[in-house]
Amino acid sequence: MCGIVGYIGSKDAKDTVLSGLQQLEYRGYDSAGIALVHDHEIKIYKDQGRVDHLREICNVSFSSNLGIGHTRWATHGIPNKLNSHPHISNNERFVLVHNGVIENYKKLKLTYLNDYKFYSETDTEIIANLIEYFSNQGKDTRDAVLTAISELEGSYALLVIDKKDTNKIYIAKNKTPLIVGTGESGITIASDVIPLAGHCKNYISLEDKTFGYVTSDEIHLFNYFNKEISFDMKQLDISSNAFGKGDYDHFMLKEIHEQPSIIRHLVQEYFDKEKINISTEIIQCIKNCTKINLVACGTSMYASYMAKYYFEKLCNIPSEVFVASELVYSSPLILDKPCFIYLSQSGETADSIAVMKKFMDKGFPSIAITNSVNSTMANLATYHLNIFAGKEIAVASTKAYIAQIVVCAILAKAVSGQKTNLKNNLSKAALAIEKILEDKILIKNIAKEIVKANDLFYIGRGIDYWVCLEAALKLKEISYIHTEAFSSGELKHGSIALIDQGVPVIAICTQEGTNSIVRSNLIETKSRGAKDIVFAMESMSEASDDFIIPNVAHYLAPIVSVVVCQLLAYYVATLKGNDVDKPKNLAKSVTVE
Ligand code: GLU
Repeated sequence: MCGIVGYIGSKDAKDTVLSGLQQLEYRGYDSAGIALVHDHEIKIYKDQGRVDHLREICNVSFSSNLGIGHTRWATHGIPNKLNSHPHISNNERFVLVHNGVIENYKKLKLTYLNDYKFYSETDTEIIANLIEYFSNQGKDTRDAVLTAISELEGSYALLVIDKKDTNKIYIAKNKTPLIVGTGESGITIASDVIPLAGHCKNYISLEDKTFGYVTSDEIHLFNYFNKEISFDMKQLDISSNAFGKGDYDHFMLKEIHEQPSIIRHLVQEYFDKEKINISTEIIQCIKNCTKINLVACGTSMYASYMAKYYFEKLCNIPSEVFVASELVYSSPLILDKPCFIYLSQSGETADSIAVMKKFMDKGFPSIAITNSVNSTMANLATYHLNIFAGKEIAVASTKAYIAQIVVCAILAKAVSGQKTNLKNNLSKAALAIEKILEDKILIKNIAKEIVKANDLFYIGRGIDYWVCLEAALKLKEISYIHTEAFSSGELKHGSIALIDQGVPVIAICTQEGTNSIVRSNLIETKSRGAKDIVFAMESMSEASDDFIIPNVAHYLAPIVSVVVCQLLAYYVATLKGNDVDKPKNLAKSVTVE
């Protein structure tokens, strides 16, 4: 969610910071800004809108060796120029950018900052003035930063510049990622490793409640007791061109096409011939439990429904899916020996992290399934499993969904110890996706038929219903068409009242046991004027069906049928001229609760 980039060194800070911000665009944002040091002055450029617009307004001829930049995903105050970061303290000495949310900002304002003037509605502006307040009490800048952040409740990644000492960037981190990278030409700081590629050889991902400062060649880190911390740098093994779109028009389309190879990669990673490579501790942790609680949000939550299916069918362990944002504030009845499995693409999902901390504090083991081995959740959890999907740049998740399902299928299979044909069936699923990708023009034609719809419904039952949930989310995320998923049996209990002339209703039919009943439910909507569309598995397809999904094992159908829905969402969004990779109002990794 939103992004930070800072640079200090011998290269031009403006170029490094702006191109870094551009690389973080996938995280979602509504405004962008930069502060550059020139001749001991700090120049600020910021506005609502894209980084391209910032580039235009930051049309400076000077070069600078220190800059901090920000893409804002507004939490406090509308997206506009005044609320954009960087923010500056009243005496214009301290300039900062902030990712996150300060929960006690109103209280801090009342306690310390009654005499201060505020120009924005943000929670962030209080931090700049709080640093000024403590510095006016005679503290040096490092101490003023430490005293200010010790007062903050909430999440923050912060970069601060002091006009009186423009050879340093002060940094602080709590609950929002911040990475510091070193290279021959200076130090780069960012919200993730991507902007470091090409500039840095080594990096460190800061722990929560760490602060300090960097110069062009030194990093000094401290804990909140003001003790300097020693640390090891990791080697950065990504190249700057690892994150391009290749020949694709959008990252989303590229990522959809990567799915067959991700399935094959997962087979390589997790199978050693027919034996599954998952640590015995993880398997034992699940075997020892009496219930599996799956915790996630959004697309990962929809993937969790398939995980529940696998754990119950293959392992006979009762499983339940929880919305992380609900579980943070509720206290479900916990009996016997549960184990918690957390699914998150980024591993930085704030709601899921909060739940993880809550239940780990109570002593329950946790398994994080994420796409980032260096993420907060991967580090925090008792155990971690990597989904090996590679960086997902498009805000709307595609490949992470199928990778999460595949990892959960492999995990459940390993726990069950049963002999199944999973490895072979995964290979067939990869081939089936390739066939869908070859036929994608047919999906583009369906997109043309529904592009003008205001409302759309996906229907299915059981496994197909869970895919409908993800399919509906995908379509609404990037096409902005109001889309809902229904278990087709539920329609007549109320929601069928929404069916009007021409409203598209898409049925997903991949399961023998429910195919005919879903088709009957579809006829009910058609009789009330709906435009019916069917995506059906070959073995149960009918001549009038709109897209035929190649046959795969029934329990892997979601990772194949979802690809049809991903492509449909993609084509509808592109036909509407929408910004597919950066849909409005959305952020990639949701790091605020
Ligand atoms: N809470 C801050 C604001 O609304 C920072 C949001 C962000 O992380 O971009 O400006």
